[in-house]
Amino acid sequence: MDQALASKAAPGSLEAEIANRRTFAIISHPDAGKTTLTEKLLYFGGAIRLAGQVRARGERRRTQSDWMAIEQQRGISVTSSVMTFQRDGVTFNLLDTPGHEDFSEDTYRTLTAVDSAVMVIDAAKGIESQTLKLFEVCRLRDVPIITYINKVDREGRDPFELMDEISEKLALDVAPVTWPIGMGTQFKGCYNLRDNVVLKPKKDGAGAFDAEERVNGIMDPKLDDLVGDPALMEQFRSEADLASTALSPVDPVAYREGHLTPVYFGSALRDFCVGDLLDGLGAWAPPPRVQPAEPAPVDPTEDKVTAFVFKVQANMDPNHRDRIAFTRICSGRFKRGMKLNQVGTGKSMAVQAPIFFFAQDRDIAEEAFPGDILGIPNHGTLRVGDTLSERTDVKVTGLPRFAPEILRRVRTGDPMKVKQVRRALHDLSEEGLAQVFKTRLGADWIVGVVGALQLDVMIDRIKAEYKVEIGFEGSPYAAARWIHGPRDKVEEFISKNSSQIAEDNDESPVYMAKSAWELNYTAERWPDLTFGVTKELV
Ligand code: GDP
Repeated sequence: MDQALASKAAPGSLEAEIANRRTFAIISHPDAGKTTLTEKLLYFGGAIRLAGQVRARGERRRTQSDWMAIEQQRGISVTSSVMTFQRDGVTFNLLDTPGHEDFSEDTYRTLTAVDSAVMVIDAAKGIESQTLKLFEVCRLRDVPIITYINKVDREGRDPFELMDEISEKLALDVAPVTWPIGMGTQFKGCYNLRDNVVLKPKKDGAGAFDAEERVNGIMDPKLDDLVGDPALMEQFRSEADLASTALSPVDPVAYREGHLTPVYFGSALRDFCVGDLLDGLGAWAPPPRVQPAEPAPVDPTEDKVTAFVFKVQANMDPNHRDRIAFTRICSGRFKRGMKLNQVGTGKSMAVQAPIFFFAQDRDIAEEAFPGDILGIPNHGTLRVGDTLSERTDVKVTGLPRFAPEILRRVRTGDPMKVKQVRRALHDLSEEGLAQVFKTRLGADWIVGVVGALQLDVMIDRIKAEYKVEIGFEGSPYAAARWIHGPRDKVEEFISKNSSQIAEDNDESPVYMAKSAWELNYTAERWPDLTFGVTKELV
């Protein structure tokens, strides 16, 4: 469904709601300007009066919760949240993603819940390592990308060089939408090549843009008056002419299929081309997609509601042991109080107090549509990857699972606090922060993570939220593998290898191998068994 169809859908109908939703994330390398752009998108989307409040809210949260100190120290954002705002009849759901390379499980999962992404690049730096990694995840999941080249008010690289780099490194056609008029000390504004609108800075060249003027193409003499720098105008005209003729025009189909990226040059800090970017998202970004699922993909227009949990966050408010399951609606019209099945468990729940997240607030959601993200408070029943549906026969697929690469033994100081430690490890493992295994013999806790930063986050959070100090030390294990196969064989394996068997949070048996060599050797000796890197056979 797209905007052309939307105009035919009856207002208020499920089809119209779907056509008018854009659920997206921003991907970038730390410092490229994601936070600033987020603030400005919310501002241009009318969600906040004063830009700067995202950060302020962030800081308020940080003072509430000690573990957020880790974000401050390292200048990273460990949590992700959801922000909803509207512009020109389009509802935007912006999912924030943590940006640190050491801690990207959450980011990967969040990217399973979006339909498109905005890639922010620093004009002076071009494509950096984390941008590239995240781009690859988007490509794997067919998430189309709009590019925002930020900080053109500073000295940056040549715009054509940046376009070439995107095109070569990412194997994408590039379609310029806005183009800078000079950069750095020469910066005189941005020009929208499609709308023929020029955004001009204030006289002294500082601050946000001052004027937005429509002109009659790049040759319009009015532009000379507006810019007032003949040499720069000449350079701009030849660049803009080349950009419009030599580079691709925006082809919405090629963009949605992931072959092309529309490119905006702008400055988030100074508001240049943020509104243009939102217009582009509204016009071209895909509405809620068909969701991969078993036994068949779920179409957003299906009557029955289906949703999946892509993130669980515990203790958002340390005063309440609350736990929020971030849930993406895939199909149907959700209504508060609706009874949804937790597919595969035989359980169902009436969703009485679902939460919508706005820029500054949370609110009870009475209704939600495909593409929307609900926060469902619960006491640990909902897990990452769960399908919630009015149906009982559907399972959403495609959420990435990660094999832990780092296995560490938990060191507990105070033997009186074992209960708290158990509770904390259980909670954080359910949240998806780490995988926790308990060895059958010796009863050690082994924590498995993908990146070392997760270990620091665990230590800090357990101290802040459970008032226990833990540490980590080396473990003899190199790999944890779930054991799949015929029941009798699994049991035989377990009894013969009891010293290397642990249990996960659900008491499923896990084989702890001491080396990659041992794992291969064991797998060869037990041909009836599969040693899975994840609990599910995927
Ligand atoms: P994040 O780490 O990607 O979230 O980056 P931030 O939004 O925190 O920005 C990193 C730094 O770049 C901050 O000091 C911002 O003020 C600055 N910055 C962001 N956008 C711009 C811009 O358009 N122009 C300039 N000159 N600085 C910017």
